[in-house]
Amino acid sequence: MFDAGRGTLNGLARKRIAFAGIDPVFVTHHHVDHVGELPDYLIASWLDGRRLPRRLFGPPGTAAMVRTQLESIYDRDIEFRSTGETAFGPFPPVEATDVRSGLVHDAGAWRVHAEEVEHGHGLGFGPLFRSRWVCLGYRIEAEGKVVSISGDGVSCEGLLRLARGADLHVQCCYLPAAELRTPHLQRVARYTLACSDTVGKIAAGAGVRRMVLTHFRRMPPEWLAAIESDVRRDFSGELALARDLDEFDV
Ligand SMILES: [Zn+2]
Repeated sequence: MFDAGRGTLNGLARKRIAFAGIDPVFVTHHHVDHVGELPDYLIASWLDGRRLPRRLFGPPGTAAMVRTQLESIYDRDIEFRSTGETAFGPFPPVEATDVRSGLVHDAGAWRVHAEEVEHGHGLGFGPLFRSRWVCLGYRIEAEGKVVSISGDGVSCEGLLRLARGADLHVQCCYLPAAELRTPHLQRVARYTLACSDTVGKIAAGAGVRRMVLTHFRRMPPEWLAAIESDVRRDFSGELALARDLDEFDV
């Protein structure tokens, strides 16, 4: 599982995917819409039958964030169920590891690499914050196929590396270019979240076969159509605009 933002548990339940069987979990970055349901998932998977440690990988600060959640915020919840409702058994540990670019996980039949991506790094933060703000995309290789996940970000070398030659690339795309009307939104598109004026170039530059766009701002259907026609100008491969609960075979 990659990220656990709002709606994750509901989505897994609707797809009838058992919480307990998901392992490992990968985190792209620490915006709340990507990690807000992480502690809920870690506890709910235990109540759903998880008895094994849960491996979790994310950028620097991930291990500390999870430790704080489990030991200082939800420790009462965990103690309540561990000692009061003993049928669940003791809370199985979470093995959280901070990672940066490189090979993150090798399961034998499939491997996951991370690359650092630019997500707000040009917004003028000071060096201390920048040192604490690492954002990752992931590349999964299995059975000769490649799936890449941009995480949040804009066009950058790390993103192009992780998506190179991907059979399926999942790319954030926030808005159609025609809606970038205010200085704020223009800054978002340039530094924070790729929009329809750049995602096609990213996919074409990386030689992606098929791209799935996600992470849209709430928008009317005609804006989605505008995104599609913008991207088509730069990218001739297969293109899909994701909806919740979609499945794609590779
Ligand atoms: Zn973000």
